[in-house]
Amino acid sequence: MSFSRSSNAVRADSIDALSMDELAAAIDIGRPDAFVQLGAAFLTRLPAAPVPDPYLVAVSADAAAQLGIDPASVQKVAQDPAFSAFFAGNPTREWPAERLPYATVYSGHQFGVWAGQLGDGRAIGLGEIEHDGKRLELQLKGAGRTPYSRMADGRAVLRSSIREFLCSEAMHHLGIPTTRALCVIGSDMPVRRETIETSAIVTRVSPSFVRFGHFEHFYSNDRVEELKALADHVIDRFYPQCRDADDPYLALLSEVTLRTADLMADWQAVGFCHGVMNTDNMSILGLTIDYGPFGFMDGFNAHHICNHSDTQGRYSYSRQPQVGYWNLFCLAQALVPLFGSHYPEEGRSERVIEDAQRVLEGFKTAFAPALESRMRAKLGLAETREGDDKLANALLEVMHANRADFTMTFRNLAKMSKADALNDAPARDLFLDRAAFDAWANDYRARLAEETLSDAERAAAMNRVNPKYVLRNHLAEQAIRQAKEKDFSEVERLMRVLSRPFDEQPEFESYAGLPPDWASDLEVSCSS
Ligand code: AMP
Ligand code: MG
Repeated sequence: MSFSRSSNAVRADSIDALSMDELAAAIDIGRPDAFVQLGAAFLTRLPAAPVPDPYLVAVSADAAAQLGIDPASVQKVAQDPAFSAFFAGNPTREWPAERLPYATVYSGHQFGVWAGQLGDGRAIGLGEIEHDGKRLELQLKGAGRTPYSRMADGRAVLRSSIREFLCSEAMHHLGIPTTRALCVIGSDMPVRRETIETSAIVTRVSPSFVRFGHFEHFYSNDRVEELKALADHVIDRFYPQCRDADDPYLALLSEVTLRTADLMADWQAVGFCHGVMNTDNMSILGLTIDYGPFGFMDGFNAHHICNHSDTQGRYSYSRQPQVGYWNLFCLAQALVPLFGSHYPEEGRSERVIEDAQRVLEGFKTAFAPALESRMRAKLGLAETREGDDKLANALLEVMHANRADFTMTFRNLAKMSKADALNDAPARDLFLDRAAFDAWANDYRARLAEETLSDAERAAAMNRVNPKYVLRNHLAEQAIRQAKEKDFSEVERLMRVLSRPFDEQPEFESYAGLPPDWASDLEVSCSS
């Protein structure tokens, strides 16, 4: 059994022994270097607002394992009404003052426009759990109003909470950096969106929830001391290697730039659209964060806009890398006051700007090869040849023209043979314009002839990077429809399927298929 933490060890030595009290006690809010210790300029301490009759919708055993909770044990403790109450934000006892949760303040650029102060408008931090030398912060999303809620209600609906829960876990299993989700707790408390819906709370789990927008907040308010405290917190906790650089803050920008470039390459390579890449939705750790109107593409459209509210297409699929780069500019701008303290006063500002620009250039030098190497792997090319990027782009063009299914196309390419076209059909049949596919397939086969891997070896390698199962909109929708009827089995099943995205799972073949007709007009918007 395995529920322990290294300090003040809370140990349960049998599965039955893990109680909700022990789980709650393991959440540590008092570490000297925790975000919450940054103090009042950064956050407001407040209790969650209780919800009536909370119930368990889903729990992720895998996320629990990250926290050191034995998967079997969490399944069991999750059935305890005290679990639902706790992760709904309804404590059984009054929150002791020193354990009071916290909502943090940030600002940001939304859809390219400075939006001023934002903040955790519906999320509160509970503290951290340490396991295996790693510390993870727990945050309840949808737990009530905070001083940063503006005109909104501090709540999240069941529908968007299930989507966030499933996608965080699915992304993790795809190997893409992301915040995690421990559980979804529902309540029949009505919440007004376009229609009346019911509310839910997701427990998010991450090493940190710091966003680009946290830095922009202190920069925009000319609070350099707090800006520095925040940067020092992030460096000390997450990028300690930056301390050795001449300019630790520039080194921080560089690290974040590289992680963001990698993340953009990861998203592009699985056909994932985030939907709301505002600077307040950009993680300082390069994690996918704030799942709202995201989407995995079915038929490939390079300019796909997954967010119905994004009328200009600012966050379309093809623009994501560019927007990541734009957001890094905002972060760089916010860090400017911290740069260059090792330079003499004379000429410092010019040198600082040059440094920042050079570091940001690193995005371009990192992103293109990062995406190229992912595309090469997706095509099963073990060797590197001039023109591989053209071959990949040519495929994307034919896919775009034919709206060929993104996930199925790459998955089915693995079935092709390098000798002849006899096994082309599974991929080829996804293209209306068969001749266009054949032309590309000829070039592909010519390229495969330069590879030493056998067809079987190549297929195995491709199947490790081209998922068979992704969280298609219609799959999430099906699980949501059932959940609204209080049947949560489909959420559970879908999570299970998506926890092995690269494996053949014959019993779940239908989860890998094209979306049904009823799903063609599904829309997701910022409403959540
Ligand atoms: P998002 O577009 O979800 O990233 O949200 C942008 C900002 O609005 C963040 O500061 C959120 O905390 C806040 N927000 C979104 N929805 C709500 C809500 N229902 N209640 C309070 N704040 C919200
Ligand atoms: Mg957000």
